[in-house]
Amino acid sequence: LERLANYSPQAIGHRVVHGGEKITKAEAITPVLLQAIREAAALAPLHNPANLLGIEATLALFPDLPQVAVFDTAFHQSMPAHAYRYALPQYLYSEHAVRRYGFHGTSHAYVTERASELAGHKNEGGWLSAHLGNGSSTCAVWNGHSVDTSMGMTPLEGVVMGTRSGDVDPSLHLFLASNLGWDIQKIDSMLNKESGLLGLSGLSNDMRTLVEASENGHDGATLAIEVFCYRLAKSLSAMSCGLPHLDGLVFTGGIGENSAYVREKTLGYLAHFGFQFSKEKNDALPRGTEGRIDDGTGPQIWVIPTDEEGRIAKETRQVVEVSQNTSPEVSLA
Ligand code: AMP
Repeated sequence: LERLANYSPQAIGHRVVHGGEKITKAEAITPVLLQAIREAAALAPLHNPANLLGIEATLALFPDLPQVAVFDTAFHQSMPAHAYRYALPQYLYSEHAVRRYGFHGTSHAYVTERASELAGHKNEGGWLSAHLGNGSSTCAVWNGHSVDTSMGMTPLEGVVMGTRSGDVDPSLHLFLASNLGWDIQKIDSMLNKESGLLGLSGLSNDMRTLVEASENGHDGATLAIEVFCYRLAKSLSAMSCGLPHLDGLVFTGGIGENSAYVREKTLGYLAHFGFQFSKEKNDALPRGTEGRIDDGTGPQIWVIPTDEEGRIAKETRQVVEVSQNTSPEVSLA
């Protein structure tokens, strides 16, 4: 608030993790929307209540400012049923909203739009996106719309993450309960907090530490990086089924933006897509900058630093402008 003292914010954009099935885009905060966020808390018990606290605090501090919620799940509401339904009994979907939702929507939306803009495609065509941070997910985007993504009903599904396992055999739960006597909370906590890069390496969830340790001969770190990259490549290949045509692949997130090693290793498993990866450009790309790392003949490969805050500000501005039906010069907080 001190840093805002010399500015006059025109609106506030909030990141909200779960919008459930009802919310397909950024929306102005109203009592009805707050209720929808509350209802979706069953699907994101750690995130949505915290998001609501932030919204309530800023509503109290800035009662006259328009406020907008931008949802991590909203971008993926364009997925077709064959991508978002689990092969489970129908009533679990119709009565209990059990389906795939996907997350990291603002990031996938931003980086694929930015890459296609840099490629001169105006947000058209087919793009694969790999958001690789402590939480990681992949996404397929066709003409600016998400058609599939690797995270599911919760952010646990999909690729290997810092401390999350990603996909495992669902019968693992039965095995651990029957043989080790674990209860469901212990299993869930292990899969979310003790698995992924941390669990595999027995060392760290931080990719920088693992790359360094691997170079110094740490077998666990080497295996963790191998599994991370191979499963990431498998996920990207699976996502490609949602695209009629592949124009390019985008890497983002702390690992995707900064680790030339992970990008190279992952692309090593994707040669059959015709990517003409340039090791020279990949190694030379300064950390945290956008750039293209292929030789210009196959599908494009981009590194795009994500900008979730910028995307939230942009969507907030759009919602405010539509509701005011004007185009004011706004400086968004
Ligand atoms: P994020 O959640 O997007 O902030 O990303 C966090 C992840 O990015 C951590 O696993 C970091 O180890 C990883 N990261 C940041 N810088 C680098 C780097 N230079 N090389 C490899 N991984 C990095």
